[in-house]
Amino acid sequence: MSRIAQTIRGALLLDFVGAFVLAMRYMFRTKATVNYPFEKGPLSPRFRGQHALRRYPNGEERCIACKLCEAVCPAQAITIEAEPREDGSRRTTRYDIDMVKCIYCGYCQEACPVDAIVEGPNFEFAAETREELFYDKEKLLANGDRWEREIARNLEIDAPYR
Ligand code: SF4
Ligand code: SF4
Repeated sequence: MSRIAQTIRGALLLDFVGAFVLAMRYMFRTKATVNYPFEKGPLSPRFRGQHALRRYPNGEERCIACKLCEAVCPAQAITIEAEPREDGSRRTTRYDIDMVKCIYCGYCQEACPVDAIVEGPNFEFAAETREELFYDKEKLLANGDRWEREIARNLEIDAPYR
């Protein structure tokens, strides 16, 4: 750019005006960032987050210990032991997921005939030790109790597409 053109641009404050207009345009646009963790972005109802074992509304465990989830898991992250109860129903005595092995493929959820094991909407479960990521049945049921409302709503929204 010639010196004369540069001088004219400077005299007319064209660079300043251009920057000002650009700043004003972005000021009124939807922000691309969120103030996490106080704000969170939207999540798909199909989001595959932390695992949970669900119960029926009467408090009974949904899981019938069919072991389909254990069989389908490509990472062999699920370990189930089961035995019949006194009333003849079949329930797990052990249900562990090694979250360190899990690849969050969602096959366990897809295989489950009673919507017992699900991947819920919780993605804030980072831990400092490997041991904290070995989930037992108690922990998975507690996750289910905590997130049941959101999980049920997500399953309902997704139901027409399954
Ligand atoms: S999400 Fe996939 S890898 Fe993880 S426990 Fe379920 S089946 Fe296994
Ligand atoms: S969680 Fe579902 S698929 Fe897995 S053992 Fe229980 S009922 Fe079967």
